[in-house]
Amino acid sequence: MEISEIFGSLVFNDSVMKQRLPKETYTALKKTISEGRDLDLSLANVVANAMKDWAVSKGATHYTHWFQPMTGVTAEKHDSFISPISDGSVIMEFSGKELVKGEPDASSFPSGGLRATFEARGYTAWDPTSYAFIKDRALCIPTVFCSYGGESLDKKTPLLRSMEALNDQAVRLMHIIGNNDVTAVNPSVGSEQEYFLIDNELYKKRKDLIFTGRTLFGAKAPKGQELEDHYYGTIKPRVSAFMANLDDELWKLGISAKTEHNEAAPAQHELAPIFENANLATDHNQLTMEMMKKIAADHGLACLLHEKPFEGVNGSGKHNNWSLNTNLGKNLLNPGKHPNENPQFLLVLCAVIKAVDEYQDLLRLSVATAGNDHRLGAHEAPPAIVSIFLGDELTEILECYENDTPYDERKKQKMELGVHGMPVISKDSTDRNRTSPFAYTGNKFEFRMLGSSISIAEPNIMLNTIVAEEFRKFADELENTEDVKSGIISIIKETVKNHKRIIFNGNNYSDEWVEEAERRGLFNLRSTPEAILRYRAEKNIELFTRHKIFTRQEVLSRCEILLENYSKVLNVEALTMLDMAKQEILPAILAYEKHLAETASVKKSLGETNDTNYRAISCRTEARIIAKLSNLADEVYDRTDELSELLSELKVICDCEKAAFFCKEKLVPAMKQLRKAADEAETIMAKDFIPYPTYADLLFSV
Ligand code: ADP
Ligand code: MG
Repeated sequence: MEISEIFGSLVFNDSVMKQRLPKETYTALKKTISEGRDLDLSLANVVANAMKDWAVSKGATHYTHWFQPMTGVTAEKHDSFISPISDGSVIMEFSGKELVKGEPDASSFPSGGLRATFEARGYTAWDPTSYAFIKDRALCIPTVFCSYGGESLDKKTPLLRSMEALNDQAVRLMHIIGNNDVTAVNPSVGSEQEYFLIDNELYKKRKDLIFTGRTLFGAKAPKGQELEDHYYGTIKPRVSAFMANLDDELWKLGISAKTEHNEAAPAQHELAPIFENANLATDHNQLTMEMMKKIAADHGLACLLHEKPFEGVNGSGKHNNWSLNTNLGKNLLNPGKHPNENPQFLLVLCAVIKAVDEYQDLLRLSVATAGNDHRLGAHEAPPAIVSIFLGDELTEILECYENDTPYDERKKQKMELGVHGMPVISKDSTDRNRTSPFAYTGNKFEFRMLGSSISIAEPNIMLNTIVAEEFRKFADELENTEDVKSGIISIIKETVKNHKRIIFNGNNYSDEWVEEAERRGLFNLRSTPEAILRYRAEKNIELFTRHKIFTRQEVLSRCEILLENYSKVLNVEALTMLDMAKQEILPAILAYEKHLAETASVKKSLGETNDTNYRAISCRTEARIIAKLSNLADEVYDRTDELSELLSELKVICDCEKAAFFCKEKLVPAMKQLRKAADEAETIMAKDFIPYPTYADLLFSV
């Protein structure tokens, strides 16, 4: 089949709606979508019926409200279309009411105290701005999820609210500066997704991968990524078959998977879709991750989305490419040919600079998870310090504004390729600083601190909201100026003067930067609990409530959920370590010791026979290995004891903030110690005795 025929074939998209809905219904629905109006029930009935007919024609038997609770993964509860009629047979039915609203029993989803179990009802409500689609023979309806009292319990609601806030303030600002044709501004997002693929049979032999998504033990393989031969390398046939299959399935869901390549670490890969509206991009990234796992299994593979599945090789992240697009199809972050003469662009750019400086903590905390703590600051991913990379050209333009000096465009460097006959290309206005956490890349900002497994909702909620806030302030200021043009110039000057500390074009991985950032007074929130606490800083609560993204109550509950989640993840990891250490590692070490001891004892008895050939036999090797292993076994045992004790202590800590810090300060170091002893034992054990597939097996298995 042609790709154009496959693409979106499982999506109730605009063209299907046009085809299947009566003209008035279609127009009304479009109005609902574009103007955020409520859809009345009689129209909803018509839409629901058309959706059901379409879904049934594609083989669907069930429908589900598809939502994104605070667990970070999606949730669904399937109901069949079947409805019995009086003669004992059934018909397929789906009403407007069922489309618009659902009532899942939600008592088991995290609510951070927002919803007591006695009022366990949660509500899902249709989000008509994201198309319904079919997955596993079920019609999936994207919905928001909230409590009985209307508090948001999910990631989509605040995302939609933040898009609205951004739109309101951006349009307002555009009108004030005379760009009156702009009636809507939408954030566009393209999220590049990294992942690992390993053999599924090996995966199933590792409890740590199954329970926690990452290896909690494992000595380094002789070869890692040091030769850099995997990055953009030839794709192996099995992986290539997986990628082709994945593309097909994503295309059917209307997800424009575009680029796929090998990444830096062995067995690591990346997928990039074409950017789209932030709401769709978020839904689509969730679906992409789900599909990756599912299709990997069909190919005898396991897809690892954890931020740090293997120690000693790169972890996986996600790059959130973000730009602002108007109803006229113009990107507000596009600098044009002469950015220095483009006040609108510079104004928008300044809003982002100011936003990132004033709300560094919010960007940092939006990517804070136990898994991501292994990456940020570990000389591979960007550090935990938020800064902006602008590139030389823009930095210079802004400096000229600040100092009232003219900008000399001729300085714009031309790229020397050193190949005759090649056209001279103007050096990209930004080079590719791969170490920056927040880089301007020509016509968009690339936020690179995201861990691979998180929902991109949270980072985009923050981006949209903080930029909306700066647009608001700029608009307020310009509204009261007589001369808007010089008003813009003074805003640019002020912003550069007050916020240039957030701009850093150098190497973010260097130790000097950490010191420099401290001198500049930038945040360095190294761990998840530290970062999360910033959620409830008064300036941040003020921001969220002003733009109606979260109520104070919602902020507090989110903070609690995130802290709790952090402790839960570490608790599961520690329990899994104990389990593996006691049931697999210690018995394996003892078995190998026994094997060596038996060998030595046989050797010894041979030496005691009369056969002179055996006289010179030595048991030194056995003895030395046994001695070393004995020590390590003792160490493993002691460390498991210590870890067990810490877990008992953790159990009785009721306060979620205290528990999170206990995990960070006590549990994490103890887990490291246990791992160290076990990994060292692994390096001196015979392969046959190692109780699980090794790093070499896992990383080079496909
Ligand atoms: P690369 O970074 O690999 O050179 P691109 O910069 O073209 O590739 O794109 C990386 C990701 O950024 C893709 O997902 C792409 O869709 C997205 N992207 C490109 N342009 C924009 C834009 N204006 N707004 C948001 N995302 C974009
Ligand atoms: Mg990128």
